[in-house]
Amino acid sequence: MVSAMKNLYECVVVGGGVAGSTAAYHLINLGYKVALLEKTNGPHHKVCGEFLSFEALGYLKEMGIFLDDDIPVIKYFRLSSPRSKVEFTFPFPGRGMSRYQLDEELLNNARHAGVDVFRSICMRSYHQEEEGLIRIETITDDFYARYLFIATGKHDHSKEHKREGKDNSYVGLKTHIRFKDQGHEFKETTALFSFPGGYGGICPVEDEAMNFCFLIDKKIYKALNGNFDAVLAYLRRSNRQLDAVFHQADFIEPVCAISHIPYGFLRDQSSHRNVYFLGDQRMVIPSFTGDGMAIALSTAKNCAYEFDCRQKDRKVQVEQIQKRLKKQMHWAFIAQGFLKYPWAIEWCMSVPVLSFFLIKTIFQKTRVSKTEDIYHDDQSVFTSDYSRR
Ligand SMILES: Cc1cc2nc3c(=O)[nH]c(=O)nc-3n(C[C@H](O)[C@H](O)[C@H](O)COP(=O)(O)OP(=O)(O)OC[C@H]3O[C@@H](n4cnc5c(N)ncnc54)[C@H](O)[C@@H]3O)c2cc1C
Repeated sequence: MVSAMKNLYECVVVGGGVAGSTAAYHLINLGYKVALLEKTNGPHHKVCGEFLSFEALGYLKEMGIFLDDDIPVIKYFRLSSPRSKVEFTFPFPGRGMSRYQLDEELLNNARHAGVDVFRSICMRSYHQEEEGLIRIETITDDFYARYLFIATGKHDHSKEHKREGKDNSYVGLKTHIRFKDQGHEFKETTALFSFPGGYGGICPVEDEAMNFCFLIDKKIYKALNGNFDAVLAYLRRSNRQLDAVFHQADFIEPVCAISHIPYGFLRDQSSHRNVYFLGDQRMVIPSFTGDGMAIALSTAKNCAYEFDCRQKDRKVQVEQIQKRLKKQMHWAFIAQGFLKYPWAIEWCMSVPVLSFFLIKTIFQKTRVSKTEDIYHDDQSVFTSDYSRR
């Protein structure tokens, strides 16, 4: 009998990153029985710039996540090319928080809301079975769900579902550094830097640390034998602002790396009946120019509500969201186009009014607006559903 089956849930979320934990939290608050499967067994570092935009912070607050005072507030944004730099003030401040800490907070939040969280469980594949069930094959037990929410991030969860983007040419690397001088100039500043064959960012995070994360062309990375010291020497040679940064820094964490990031991948949600895709499984926007974590938070929340609407035969507005995601992707690619060519950045900076206008426009066009969440159309209904627990 179906109801007596072991590991049977109405909703199973696979992946406990930003998107997975958020979807699980909203689904349980909407009244569904939810399990979340995460392959790692504890806190872990991820390749990410670790900058939380004002918009992302809004989604976290909505789930009752308020960041501690020791999580740096980021008021300024700096852009540096090999020879020059410009600085702007953010219209609304963001925060810098390691994924090591953020992802655990989100998972614990989902757990406290009532989600059954399973760790060290890696999905291998899933299969549509009879009686409307999906069998989720993992390296240990099988799980069964009526609805599956896939939030496995940048990595493909199986060969059959391999994604291609418009641009798969980068390798992403990240580590944490600490400045010897505690009164350093980056206390409230996130900085983007450009160098031939790539670009990246520095962002303050908790414990007086700085996240250092960048993308480098695969061919250059290969030519440097994938050796981090050689890559670092190349960056220092290529951008003198970066050279000055590393002069005063100690490396405090091992380096994480990721390759084959399918930038430009955008999935059409409407073709999937009982399987939902969220976060990077829904869309992979160019890093540092798009609002990746806010998109993960927003697609996760909207998926949960879209699913709830379908269950209750209410109208859903999938096209509206897809249109917005396409627009963000378009602008993020324009920004990436500038960043990967330092001469283009230099040219822009030589006309301050132009660089200010471009940065402001790109910034506005790539943000995720909470006012476009689908549940806004009938907020009174959803607000009461939402506070049901
Ligand atoms: C270089 C770089 C810099 C970035 N910088 C920023 C930034 O500064 N600010 C920002 O907002 N965004 C940034 N992003 C984007 C951001 O990191 C992603 O958009 C976001 O992490 C997507 O969240 P997610 O939950 O979809 O995926 P992830 O955070 O990758 O989480 C996926 C989870 O699924 C788990 N998982 C994977 N496979 C399985 C499986 N088979 N079974 C079970 N579990 C599985 C993983 O362990 C992981 O915990 C950056 C991205 C890159 C590559």
